[in-house]
Order: sequence, then structure tokens, then C-alpha cells
Amino acid sequence: MLIKRGIPVSPGVAISRAVVLGGEDQPIPRRTVAPAAVTREIARLDAALATSAQEIADLRQRTAETLGEEMAKIFAFHLGMLADPTLTGGFHEAVRRERVTAQFAVYTVMTGFARQFLAHEDRYFRDRVTDIYDLKRRILRQLTSRGVQDLAAVTKPAIVIARDLTPSQTAGLDPELIKGLATDLGGHTSHTAILAHALGIPAVVGMEDLTQQVRDGDTVILDGNRGAVVAEPGASQLLDYREEVRRLKRQAIELTKLRDVPAVTRDGVEIKLHGNIEFPHEVPDALDKGALGIGLYRTEFAYLAADHEPDEEEQYRLYAEAVRLLDGRPLTFRTLDLGADKMPESIDLGLSAADEANPFLGCRSIRLCLQNLPMFRTQLRAILRASAHGPVRVMFPMISSVMEMRQARMILLDVKEDLAEQGIAFASDIPVGMMIEVPSAAIQARTFAAEVDFFSIGTNDLIQYTVAVDRGNERVANLYSAAHPAVLTLIKDVSRVADRANVSVGLCGEMAGQTEFTMLLLGLGLRNLSMTPTAIPEVKKLIRSVSVDQCKRLARKAMSFDSDHEVLNYLTAERGRLLPDLSPG
Ligand code: PEP
Ligand code: MG
Repeated sequence: MLIKRGIPVSPGVAISRAVVLGGEDQPIPRRTVAPAAVTREIARLDAALATSAQEIADLRQRTAETLGEEMAKIFAFHLGMLADPTLTGGFHEAVRRERVTAQFAVYTVMTGFARQFLAHEDRYFRDRVTDIYDLKRRILRQLTSRGVQDLAAVTKPAIVIARDLTPSQTAGLDPELIKGLATDLGGHTSHTAILAHALGIPAVVGMEDLTQQVRDGDTVILDGNRGAVVAEPGASQLLDYREEVRRLKRQAIELTKLRDVPAVTRDGVEIKLHGNIEFPHEVPDALDKGALGIGLYRTEFAYLAADHEPDEEEQYRLYAEAVRLLDGRPLTFRTLDLGADKMPESIDLGLSAADEANPFLGCRSIRLCLQNLPMFRTQLRAILRASAHGPVRVMFPMISSVMEMRQARMILLDVKEDLAEQGIAFASDIPVGMMIEVPSAAIQARTFAAEVDFFSIGTNDLIQYTVAVDRGNERVANLYSAAHPAVLTLIKDVSRVADRANVSVGLCGEMAGQTEFTMLLLGLGLRNLSMTPTAIPEVKKLIRSVSVDQCKRLARKAMSFDSDHEVLNYLTAERGRLLPDLSPG
């Protein structure tokens, strides 16, 4: 029996057989290594290149013997590429300069090469693309420990154990089949984690070397509440967890009864609970969980899931579908938040993650849109056209300066004028807001209040930028905390400024759906929360059992602590006192 702990990112318990995923056919997520580990990555890379060259030489030899010299020539291209200093130098350069893993360097450089070949006017080069992919797979097989399965091969219920998954791979998981997910890499609010939560798949990330420790077919218990994975459990462990699964099922049924009751505190204050979605087909489930509308539609996922850039009509169809499914309830579109860990595999945005040393501080999100106006305008046209069918708001992500906000608004205005000239219907008074997810925006909230109709606090990024901790990096995950006093101060200030300026404010980071923070957020003045729909029933249950006065007292006390540990201990204890069955124990 093996018990291993990680970071719990999506609640629930699953018991099933393990499928350990290999990496060779998977898109490789960008991961950086510590400066001291660069030499080790280079050594791994060189060893992988040498083994690959040896394998191909052997294969060439065998082919020559069995099929003749002429057929064996097909391997000359592979060997030639491996000997080409432009290619191998590119791998080395990426590892040294960007400090990325050897596998990411190979993945990204080879993908870039394949793109160049594909765009070549000479047919000979275009035809070589399959050879490039073949070589890429071969090298990656050396660098990623297991290469036996891919997600498409999962046809029976299973718990997926993987080194890492990209957001688009996670979005494609079928919750009917994938009962749980555990990854070696990843942090609290990596987009992969958020998606697993949205899909209702229990998940634990940051498990370090779990893929090395669990074998395909092992029986595994995945505990997404406490952040643990038990492989090959003993009989008593299995018995306990089976009972826990039954208890959680009963609790879930109990919570569905809350669907149609309002989230009102004991002293009669209504809190508006909305859902976060990535695709329109999630709307019915969000409503089913009791969402009053959609507070965050992460539109970039259409880009992540597609094999081509979605045009205006495709985007319009998606957006209009979401509006239609909401049947008069409100929907907040967030414009494209691409870049950093959300880089499409098959769409060329004129920027690859390897082009930037610090993609989370780079050309991401609204910055990417403002540098790619045709893409931005196309999306705004689609959103505005969808606004003709129901109550819609639009907000811009990652705003860090007033000029960015003004520029984005100007483009929106310009697009509106175009539509009006063309006689195309849209809601001319569509509210325009911004995400507050960068400290500069939070600190300048008073200035921004004069520029927008609403704020939505994105704590996932606000935490990472305030505390300077990569949200997807398991090595520093212990420093990533929503309870950090500096983060709480920013939330409190933004909430107060918005209230005074009469600007509507909500919070849509993962924190909104974590019940240990519910009372605190109410106490800090928040009345609109948007979260992963699966979290709504529990948050609602908690809201209905407290008063605003009680929350304000709790917030005052929480704000008096110096460290996130003290804050979190206090909040968890208070929640446990109020609703013991909401705590994982
Ligand atoms: C956030 O940053 O809090 C947020 C809601 O956006 P995302 O998680 O998509 O970055
Ligand atoms: Mg964000």
C-alpha cells in the first residue's frame, strides 16, 4: 500500500483502477526548472538525443538488411535532423535561456519546426512533417518516463495519473469515465485544476513522482478533499473509503434540495451566486446547481479546444447558445485570456510560450488582444451580436493600467459603430467591466471605478501576482495562499472603493467557491460570488446559516492576523464550528 499526499484542488472521493498516462503524444505543458537544475536538464536532453540517434541507426540497419538500402534511406532525414546543430542548438538554447524542462524544449522547438515545414511552398518539405512528428515522439519517449497510454485509450472507468495535463486535455475529459485525476505537477489554481473542479472530477495535483510509483491497473483511492492518493489500499482502508463515498453521495443529494432557495443570510441579505464556465454546454449544469447566471465565461477555451482559429460566426454561435440556454439570466463574457499556460496547440498567435522568459508577466490576456486587433475585434463583434439575445456584460482580463482599459473600451466602441453602420443588432448599453487580478489594478481601484461599470476580482491571478508565486508550480504551492493578509487587504480595499463609488463588485476566483472563505468574503462586503458550479450548493448552505454581523466580526478578527497560516486556521475552525459536515476532517 502506498499513501501519498498532494494539493487537493477538486473535492470528492473516487475508488477505481489507475491509468498511468505517458507523455509522448501529449502536448507538453511549459514548466521551468530551478537554475541549479539546468545542467541536469541539458544532460537528460543530450542522453535522449543520443539514445534516439542510436535507435534510428539500428532501425536503419535492420531496414537495409530486410528491405534494402533504398527503403532504409527514409531514416536519413531523421538522422540528418538529429545531427543538425540548428535543431539541437535550439533545444539547448531553450533549456538554458528559458530554464524550461528538456521535454518542453523538444516539444516546442519541434512543433515550431513542423509549422515552418507545413507552411513551406515546396511539397517536399510539407511532406516531411510526419517525419518531424515521428522524431519528436521518439525523443519525448526518452524524456517522459512512461509512454503506454493516451487519454483516447481510456474506455473504462479509471483514475488518471499523469505527469501533467494541459487545460485543453482536461477540458476533454469525460466525467463518466474519468473518476479522478492526480498529476505530478500543478498548483492550487492551475487551469487544469480549475477545469477538473468544473467537471466535478475529484483531483489532487503536485504529487511529485506519483507517475513513477503507481502502475497501470493498480487499485487507487483518490481523496480530493484531503489531497491524498492511496494505491493498492488495504481492506480496512477500502471499507472506510467506500463508506465515505456513500456519505458524500447522501450529502450531495441533501444539497440539491437547496437548488431553488435563495442564498440569503439569517438577517435577510441576499448574496448573488453565479457559475464560472468554459463552454456553453456547462450552462444547464450550472443552473441545476442553483446558479443565478454566469459570472465568468472563460471564452478562451474555444481557442484551446479548436484545431483552427474560431471565426466570428463560430464564436457568435457559441456565445448566442450560452445566452439562449440562460433564458433571460445574466451572463458575463470575459474576453480572450490567452497566453502563459493557456496557449493553443494548433493556432498560431504569433507567439509561442518559449518566446518569453516569463510568460505570466508577458504578452498574455488583454495585452495579447491589444497586440492582435483583428482577433480582438472579431471576438468583440461576436459578443456584441450575442448581446442582442439576452442580458450580457463584457469584461477585460488582466488589466494593469488605465490606458489598457481605455484602449480596450475604445476598440469596443469602434466595433459597436461598425455593427451599427452595418445594421447588425446588439445591446448598445452593454455594461463594461474589468477583472481586478493584478495588484496595480487593485491599488488603483478608485481610478478604475470611474472607468468601468463593474469589477470582478480574480483572486487566482491576484494571489500569484501579489505574493509572486506561480499559481501552477507545485514547488512553491505552499506559498500560494488566498488567506495571505496582503491579498485580503487588497480584496477589502477594492470592495470598499467599489461600494463608495457605486460600482458593482464581485469575486470570481476559486476562493469564491471555498467554504472556508465564505464568511470572510461576506464580512469584507462582497455580495456577488461566481464560482465553479459544483461549489454553489455548499456555499449557499453556509450563507443561509450565518448573519452578516457575524461575518463582519469574523472578518475583523481574520484581518488582525499576521500570517496566512493563522488566518486559515481561524477560518477553518470557524467553519467547522458552524457546519461540521462541510469540513473534510
Ligand atoms: C482569476 O484569475 O481569478 C480568474 C478567475 O481567472 P483565471 O483563473 O481564468 O485566470
Ligand atoms: Mg485570471
